[in-house]
Amino acid sequence: MPTRFRRLGLLVAGLPIVLSVGGTSTAAPRTRDAQKTVSSTTVVIDAGHGGYDRGGIPGQKVAEKEMTLDVAQRLKTLLAASGYHVVMTRDSDVFVPLPTRVAIANSYANAIFVCIHFNSAKRVGADGIETYFYGRDSLPLASAVHYYVAGGAPSPNRGVRRRGYYVLRKANTPAVLVECGFLTNPTEAAYAQTVSYRQKLAEEIAAGIRGRSLVTSAPGASTRVATDESIPLQSYTDQTNVRSSSRSRSKRSHKRSSRAKSSTKKKSSTPDGPEASATSKEREG
Ligand SMILES: [Zn+2]
Repeated sequence: MPTRFRRLGLLVAGLPIVLSVGGTSTAAPRTRDAQKTVSSTTVVIDAGHGGYDRGGIPGQKVAEKEMTLDVAQRLKTLLAASGYHVVMTRDSDVFVPLPTRVAIANSYANAIFVCIHFNSAKRVGADGIETYFYGRDSLPLASAVHYYVAGGAPSPNRGVRRRGYYVLRKANTPAVLVECGFLTNPTEAAYAQTVSYRQKLAEEIAAGIRGRSLVTSAPGASTRVATDESIPLQSYTDQTNVRSSSRSRSKRSHKRSSRAKSSTKKKSSTPDGPEASATSKEREG
């Protein structure tokens, strides 16, 4: 699928799919400096999948592309009301290739890139929230977004993870990919299908974006204990293994995932099941 994305990227790059929402005058910043920082920051929101790319795994009932778009649009509204300049990589049910998504993010100075996804796994019990980043300068953003989303969700905290997803690797800006729960898990899918929960997710992501500069490496990093003045740096798992072209790596990952799946099936005990990881690995944005 990543190869296909790239090929289509060459064909449709340049299509006028960028939708921009100007910062509004309704924001009421506490200080002029804060307002300046907010209004000079472009948040590029990337709703995962779209069009023929439904997201998730074959046979999945809830379409990931619909959930990601809804949360992205809610996030857009919240951030625009706070005075941010907001850009959507897609604002309707269309397919946008990964290179185009990244190009949009990279075309803005002082931007941050927030990719919204939901997870999926063959094992229906797989659940939880996880947030990915790649470049070290993205860690404060990942930490803050994860702190709020995982803290505000009833789902388990799967942690902050460093991995070389295409959209994260190619971004020149701080970039994160948040997996807002498993649509293959009945409980999390039920939550995701409610408006109030998607609104809650958007609010938590917005809080993370606003609070990204407040991340400090305080002790007790993995618990939600911060005050308004600080957000603890989340510990993270490094799952990155980027040594060759994305195409060959993608193939290898796939093989490795399949092997891991079959060899660990008999154990079937870890809550962070191999199916979940495999699914995440196959998904390039
Ligand atoms: Zn996805």
